[in-house]
Amino acid sequence: MDKSLWINLGIDKKKNYNKLEGEQEAEIVVIGGGLTGLTTAYYLAKEGRKVILVEKDEICNHTSGNTTGKITSQHGLFYNYLLQSNGRKEAKHYLEANEEAIKNIKKIIDDENIECDFEYQDNYVFIQKEEDIEKIKKEQEALEYLSFNSELVNEIELPIKNTKMLGAIKFKNQAQFNAYLYGIGLAECIEKYGGKIYENTKVLDVKKENDNYEIITEEGKINCKFMVIATHYPIINAPRILFYENVSRNFIFNYN
Ligand SMILES: Cc1cc2nc3c(=O)[nH]c(=O)nc-3n(C[C@H](O)[C@H](O)[C@H](O)COP(=O)(O)OP(=O)(O)OC[C@H]3O[C@@H](n4cnc5c(N)ncnc54)[C@H](O)[C@@H]3O)c2cc1C
Repeated sequence: MDKSLWINLGIDKKKNYNKLEGEQEAEIVVIGGGLTGLTTAYYLAKEGRKVILVEKDEICNHTSGNTTGKITSQHGLFYNYLLQSNGRKEAKHYLEANEEAIKNIKKIIDDENIECDFEYQDNYVFIQKEEDIEKIKKEQEALEYLSFNSELVNEIELPIKNTKMLGAIKFKNQAQFNAYLYGIGLAECIEKYGGKIYENTKVLDVKKENDNYEIITEEGKINCKFMVIATHYPIINAPRILFYENVSRNFIFNYN
């Protein structure tokens, strides 16, 4: 399979990590080496927790290494919907959490000197159909009600001259980066802060023994107090997790 531009640009800089063999102990095991797992393991290792991350293939090689590389709070025309469905408090909370995430990524990049071509950019969602004009007006009104500084614009600074464009919502100070370089940079930091990473280490099962988990991989196992499943899709069934509700969510849990 062809790899993304990000992976092609970064593959020579990536370190290889061993496969887990034998038995290990950790406080927390993070399962999955995409951006969710790497970010979680980074924060935990930086806090001084004894963390091991296991990845079935190579880190950042699946969804995360193949994304569009945009870091934005704008996800289609979403805020009017969120406002109507969940109310102002939750819609504002969601928006602020997304904006904070952009700042947090920038902070990690600056603190750790991760070279990943991060650039602030404006983000646009534009419409092409007359019937959507009302929708973007309502979206802008919703964003104003949430006290967010978006703009309704008729022109956008994108090379889409031959594309019909009837209006757009602009979010300033969003960003783009090479998601793969960022991910492999996070992995190096996890090791720097004392965490361990194993690649080509597929988790086959998780068992609960008293207050601990046994994370069983193809050729080894890890005993730990907590685990984070950051595999994008669920890998085990467990009480209190309703996979059929939203299978793409990541779960942090301790099923006592
Ligand atoms: C085409 C596309 C473009 C996208 N563009 C963007 C974008 O521009 N900006 C944005 O914010 N989001 C984007 N997304 C959303 C994106 O999916 C998430 O932002 C993020 O990359 C998901 O990361 P993740 O770590 O949850 O999943 P993944 O990157 O998929 O990582 C999960 C990891 O778990 C591993 N794993 C699975 N099972 C096991 C097991 N049993 N044992 C051990 N490891 C296992 C997998 O090998 C994988 O590496 C895009 C998604 C797609 C599909």
